[in-house]
Amino acid sequence: MDHHVYRRADLLAHGYRDRQIRDALDAGVLHRVRSGWYADRSADPEVVAAVRRGGALGCVSALSKHQVWVAPGYPDLHVRAGKYSRSMADGFCSGFGGPLPVTKAVDDVPLALMYAARCMTREHWIAAADSVMNSRRISADELRFRMGHIPSPVADWMRACDARSQSGTESIVRTRLRNRGFHVVVQPRIESIGGYADLRIGRLLIECDSRLHHTSPENYRKDRRRDRKSLAGRWMTMRLTYDDVLFGWDEALADICTVTDAGRHRIRKVRPK
Ligand SMILES: [Zn+2]
Repeated sequence: MDHHVYRRADLLAHGYRDRQIRDALDAGVLHRVRSGWYADRSADPEVVAAVRRGGALGCVSALSKHQVWVAPGYPDLHVRAGKYSRSMADGFCSGFGGPLPVTKAVDDVPLALMYAARCMTREHWIAAADSVMNSRRISADELRFRMGHIPSPVADWMRACDARSQSGTESIVRTRLRNRGFHVVVQPRIESIGGYADLRIGRLLIECDSRLHHTSPENYRKDRRRDRKSLAGRWMTMRLTYDDVLFGWDEALADICTVTDAGRHRIRKVRPK
């Protein structure tokens, strides 16, 4: 994934000659972004901007570019400074340890995650790491391996991650409820719905919709059927929207607590199915 931004050293390594690069610049096929870096007309503007600033698109911005789930609230361009970037003072994200050289225009996911640990909140970082593991079907051990040396604050956050999470909202709800001391089961198998719910506290099933959910009539029908079947199986389903989780959490939590404070989530003699 080059995003149409090229390092001169890589062009040369792929057999291009200086003369060809000059011709491409003269013809307007390539333009110079900064010393040793070029872009063509299809280049991603965010990637070009990051390289122009003297670094690589990194951290939160790189995660978004790699289709990792990122919570709202990070509108700025996140740029990682290279080892030889002129100014380390302004506008660059800070990581752990010393700066690494920039050899690609966009940082890969493990490096971007490491930097994002400094720019994101804990729950947002956990949601992003869950998204990496789930979408790429890798375990926490494998992700840790790919990230290399992990400083202890990040290692603590890693322990709270769960590759089974199906959406960023599910990750955030799980993290928040566990922080409040709830015993939360992730992706429980529910016989009566013939599949898995997102989260479970006792017999309260919590389904967390991602932003794109319910775009199709089929999803709409499927969810109503699940809710009906879960009720028939003596479960209770609470469905949280993306907006409930990200922008209306206090009210959603109050409703969960209303159920649990009254003990209505307790599994009594007749086990739900
Ligand atoms: Zn950042």
